[in-house]
Amino acid sequence: MLREKQVKTVLNKLKKRDSWFLADYTANPYEGCSCNCQYCYIRGSKYGENLAEGLAVKANALEVLEEQLIVKSQKGQYGLVVLGSATDAYIHQEEQYRMAEGMLKLFLKYRFPVFISTKCTLVRRDIGLLKEIDKAAILPADLQPTLKRGVIFSVSVSTLDEKVSRTLEPGAATPLQRLQLLQEMKQEGFLAGVNAIPLLPFISDTEEELDKIIFAAKEHDADYILTGGLTLFGDQAADSKTLFYKFLERYDASLLPKYRQLYDHGYYTDPMYQKKLKDRAGKICERYSIRNSILG
Ligand code: SF4
Repeated sequence: MLREKQVKTVLNKLKKRDSWFLADYTANPYEGCSCNCQYCYIRGSKYGENLAEGLAVKANALEVLEEQLIVKSQKGQYGLVVLGSATDAYIHQEEQYRMAEGMLKLFLKYRFPVFISTKCTLVRRDIGLLKEIDKAAILPADLQPTLKRGVIFSVSVSTLDEKVSRTLEPGAATPLQRLQLLQEMKQEGFLAGVNAIPLLPFISDTEEELDKIIFAAKEHDADYILTGGLTLFGDQAADSKTLFYKFLERYDASLLPKYRQLYDHGYYTDPMYQKKLKDRAGKICERYSIRNSILG
């Protein structure tokens, strides 16, 4: 049984629209995440070393969400909602608790568009609901001419190496299973792509590895691929930097000094690294004729 949590709010308005995902809101059915990615940005002492152990279901989320959606829809404040920004909405516990499904039913009822990014295949269960949202959702006026649909679907892929993925993303589907899911979603008619975020410095951000990831996205019919760097922070036992460095010790200790150079001065890689990554990804996207943004 999951710990139950009562919440006061579920639908969170972003200060400004997320330029990558085009979203104005986020909503999370769970607190914590059983995918348990070692690099996860929500890590810290709040959840402990194993994110799955701190997992809680937001027991009153559907009542609270409905109240919020009534108000927003009455004011005409429609916008894409990221379902699962601080958790994966389709963790295996969703099979029992069905909170993500309940939220989708409410988004359909109040005609809110959704953005889903997942590492889990359980989302297949909700394809029917997602198709209805795709047709019925009301988009914010400025997105209407370009987006023209109510669902954006991404699979999240940081590496194609199954062994690395098993260590770093122990509770997620394999990268290949995620890509097969993407292809299925495309065949079902969705706007769908890959979030290659975070790419792992010197592991999956190299020319060769990035080429493989972008090629795989294209081969699985992705409409787009979004790429972005890794954020690492903290020196406590449950922090992402501590856990990631432990992984590097086992994976390839020679990478540690390179990571220290990148991360010892902050959470983010420096602007020069980010620019190089963006340029590298942009060139490969061009080579394979795939967009590196959701809209064309
Ligand atoms: S799937 Fe996302 S939210 Fe869940 S642990 Fe991994 S990075 Fe964090």
